Amino acid sequence: MCNWVRQFLLTTAFWAAVLLVMMSSQPAAAMEKPLPDNMKASIQAIFPKVTRLGEPEQNPPVVPVYQLNELLGYAFRSTDLSNLPGFSGDPIDLLVGIDTQGKFVGVHVLNHHEPIFMHGLGEGPMFDFIYQYTGRSVKERIIVDSRRAASADESSNGTVYIDGVTKATVSVLVINDILLSVALKVARAKLEGFEQAEPSRVRLDLYEALDWQQLHQRDWVRRWSLATEDVEKGLGESLATYPDLEITPVRGEDGRLLFSDLYYAYLNPPSIGQNLLGVDEYTRLMASRKPGEHLLLVASNGPYPYVEEDFRPGTVPTRVGMSQNGLPVDIRDTDFLDDSGFQSAQGPYLEHAHIFRIKEQAGFDPAQPLNLNFNLDVNRNHLIRDQASFSDSYVLPEYLFEKVEVAEVAAPDPLWLRIWKDRVVDISVLMIALVILTGLFIWQHRMTRHSTWFHRFRWGFLLFTLGFVGFYTQGQLSVVNIYTLLLALVDGFDITIFLLDPIIFLLWTYVFISLFLWGRGLFCGWLCPFGVMQELTSKAAKLLKIRQLKIAEQRHQLLQKIKYLVLVVLVGSAFYSLSVAEQLAEIEPFKTAVTMAFVRSWPFVVYTALLLAAGLYIHKFFCRYLCPLGAGLAILGRFSVFKWLQRRKECGAPCKLCKVRCEIDSINRDGSIDYDECVQCLECIVILNNADQCAIELSQQKQRKSRRIAVKQVA
Ligand code: SF4
Ligand code: SF4
Repeated sequence: MCNWVRQFLLTTAFWAAVLLVMMSSQPAAAMEKPLPDNMKASIQAIFPKVTRLGEPEQNPPVVPVYQLNELLGYAFRSTDLSNLPGFSGDPIDLLVGIDTQGKFVGVHVLNHHEPIFMHGLGEGPMFDFIYQYTGRSVKERIIVDSRRAASADESSNGTVYIDGVTKATVSVLVINDILLSVALKVARAKLEGFEQAEPSRVRLDLYEALDWQQLHQRDWVRRWSLATEDVEKGLGESLATYPDLEITPVRGEDGRLLFSDLYYAYLNPPSIGQNLLGVDEYTRLMASRKPGEHLLLVASNGPYPYVEEDFRPGTVPTRVGMSQNGLPVDIRDTDFLDDSGFQSAQGPYLEHAHIFRIKEQAGFDPAQPLNLNFNLDVNRNHLIRDQASFSDSYVLPEYLFEKVEVAEVAAPDPLWLRIWKDRVVDISVLMIALVILTGLFIWQHRMTRHSTWFHRFRWGFLLFTLGFVGFYTQGQLSVVNIYTLLLALVDGFDITIFLLDPIIFLLWTYVFISLFLWGRGLFCGWLCPFGVMQELTSKAAKLLKIRQLKIAEQRHQLLQKIKYLVLVVLVGSAFYSLSVAEQLAEIEPFKTAVTMAFVRSWPFVVYTALLLAAGLYIHKFFCRYLCPLGAGLAILGRFSVFKWLQRRKECGAPCKLCKVRCEIDSINRDGSIDYDECVQCLECIVILNNADQCAIELSQQKQRKSRRIAVKQVA
């Protein structure tokens, strides 16, 4: 089997094993999330006046919060309402409280894996950021912009600027998007004044005089006669079984015994409401409703009314309810009618009658079919209760409605696109640098012919990598990015997670492609900010004339394997626990040295300083033996198609100059290059392309010169 194929199979087997471990550690299906233990305490902290919590609701999943009987607001988890992942790729789980006016009462962080807040800046700045939402309204446009937040007065046009967090830009933008979207969803579903425009609107200009009979014939006033036999069928027992249902059924027109004789009608269209109530009452009713509210008349005769005896005006009925498209629609008594029943012109007298209202934000569309539901919950004896539900459908003709022209509101750009637009200058500078670097590698032989120029260029590029890519744009790639990628492959790949940081995205894309052209060295030798720090340390060692430690070849080979072991442990741990993996990833000193610029607690600083100090004695000590990212790139780099670094037949034997000059010891005894370790500094190519440096060239020149002298002497 050829070497390339064997490497391909080995590498494929490695990543397949990693994916298998990951998959086996994932739950087979998404499980219902249990409420965290601290949920109640957190709700209490958000709503200090809370005396009781209502029953958790499902649509949307919120917990109503009360002070005695007064509704204070709603508490809900962001992960129940939004699947936007954080920068880590895992969701940020927030407990949010909004009051009945749609103002944020408070936000608590239940769980997150944002690396910068976990192990970098600490959680303090995250909490400070989130605290800014308290008192803000969901109706406001909240924008994260520290510059404007510092200078802007209180918003007058509904736009509010809040402070971001330096070095955690992506994480706070994600939190902002999550908070605004979930709070708006809840407000739209639960609060007045947050409703979306109606899809259909009643044509109030359309009126046709109709009497009761005509309304009934058109089914605009719907009669629903619920027979005792239907009820018994629903309950599965005879009515005689239920002491609560000791009723005297009346015989209906069709000869069946009636349990309840219901009438109901959607009142908003003048052709229905005005004909049923009369002009004055209809006008009074329509004037009393809030804009966008729908009104439904429910009335009945018969032995079993649709409201319980102790039904209080203005409340929500339990026996009767409404649904549309399978979803419940809240109805509440308007208290418009008194207890004296309902008598419509030319219609029957109905003993029980209520007008119920449906809030505009309930999502109810009057042009669509609706269902009236009759719910029975009755005692069979002291121990057993039985339930049954009955439903009747109601549809009005389309011509009673007009479609509402919903003004096309331009959807905001997705978060990743806004970030890319904001960072267009950084992106452009990076792209130019990458194009230049690519050109250098393509024309590396021509470029290395001028060794002084080349060395200057390399150091210039390395300083750019450290200053611009590392410190300024925070573009240090890390093994943590590999976790995110592998987890995304298992959980369902979503490229938007990766687009949230354009610099990291571009660098990874570039590095990934370059791996197949030049191997891992292009990144490690040119684009890794911590790699540059180590080169600087090495340079300092030369200036200070520090003697380099020579590790015996066998031991060196063995030590090199450590980084692969570290990689396997780290990736494996990510599928056991992301938190553990993130802590283990601290073996990379990148966060301390580059992200935090050494402003961090002392153990991290000491660890990083020790690694750099080790680099004074062993060139790029961390890269050689410990770096899991370098190991991962080396594995992928085995697929590189070309071997760009040219060799001469004399390389290795007899000449060993390149091997001696290769600071990272990636030239084998036979002169071949160990591409797993080579950082593509191109030093060996400089030697090869400069006649005044290549020992073979020099010796050949010497021989040629000697021959010329000999020829001259003979002559
Ligand atoms: S081995 Fe690691 S630290 Fe060294 S240059 Fe490569 S990625 Fe950077
Ligand atoms: S000297 Fe040559 S072999 Fe050694 S790291 Fe640089 S490019 Fe690679």
